[in-house]
Amino acid sequence: YYDSQTVIYLNGQFVKAADAKTDLYGQSLHYGLAAFEGIRAYKTHNATRIFKIAAHFERLKKSCELVGMPYPWDNKELIKKTYRLLEKNNLKDAYIRPIVYSDPNMTLIAPSKVNIMICAWEWGAYLGDKQLKVCISPFQRPNPKSTFVEAKISGHYVNSILATTDAKKRGFDEALLLDMNENIAEGSGANIFIEKDGKLYTPALGNILAGITRATVIELCKMLDVEIIEKNISVAELKNADSAFFCGTAAEIIGIHTIDEVVYRQRWGDSIGYIIQRAYKNLVLEKVNYEVII
Ligand code: PMP
Repeated sequence: YYDSQTVIYLNGQFVKAADAKTDLYGQSLHYGLAAFEGIRAYKTHNATRIFKIAAHFERLKKSCELVGMPYPWDNKELIKKTYRLLEKNNLKDAYIRPIVYSDPNMTLIAPSKVNIMICAWEWGAYLGDKQLKVCISPFQRPNPKSTFVEAKISGHYVNSILATTDAKKRGFDEALLLDMNENIAEGSGANIFIEKDGKLYTPALGNILAGITRATVIELCKMLDVEIIEKNISVAELKNADSAFFCGTAAEIIGIHTIDEVVYRQRWGDSIGYIIQRAYKNLVLEKVNYEVII
C-alpha cells in the first residue's frame, strides 16, 4: 500500500507515511470506533477525476455525527487536499481512504478529539473482473437495533472479515449477508442487485450501507429506462432471479455467477447488469454519451 516515498495527509499536513505516527492508546484501535471512506479516482480523457468525492466526504461527516465523533473540518477543503494528495503521490487511477480516528482515550464515551488521515494507492477491481461464486453467509449484517448500519464505521468490518473469511474457506469468492429478518442485505463490502423479468431489484435502505455506487446504479437505471424496485428481497427471490450483481466503489460492478449451488440461468452478457457495468465505466471515465456507448 505504501513505500518509503508515499505521502499521506494527516491533520492538515502532508507527511511521509513511513514517518507518520499514531497513538496506541485509542478507542479506534481498541474498540473499533473510527469512520472511514473508500473513494476512487479515475484517469479520464479530461484529467484525473475523483468520482462522487463530495458524496463520500458527506457520508464521512454523517458517519461521525451518527456515532458522536466530532468533525471539525470543512469538506471543500478536504476535497482540495485529496486532489493534492494524488498529485503528490503521482497517482492517476487510485483508491482513496480517509479515516477519522480518536486521540488517546480508553473510555467507552465518544471521543472529543479526533484525527483525520487520508491515504491513497493504486488498487485494481477489488473483487476482480470474473463473475463471482457467492455463498449466503452464516453471519448476519449488524442490525439497526444494535448500531447505525448506515454509518461506515471500522468496527462494523469485523463482521465483513468474518463473512469473507468463512466464504473463502468454503471455496467461494464472496459472501452475501442476510439482515436480521433473513432477507438479503449486502456483500461484505458491496451492495447487491438482482434482475427478474427485465426489472432490477435491490434491498431497500434500513439494514444496509447506503452505497454511493448503489445510488449511481439507480440513477443509471432511470437514464436507461430500466425499472428499478427497492424492497425486501428473500433468499428464495434471490435464487429465483435471472441474474445478479454486486456494486461498490472498490468492486465497481461485478456479476454473480452462482449463489450457493444455484447457477444463474441468464448469460452475464445478456443481463441488465452487463449494460449497467458498461454504463458505470463510461460514467466514471466521463464518456457520457449513452446513445453512442450502449
Ligand atoms: N456495503 C458495504 C458493507 C460496504 O462496505 C460498501 C463499500 N463502501 C458498500 C456497501 C458499497 O458502498 P459504496 O458504493 O459507497 O462504495
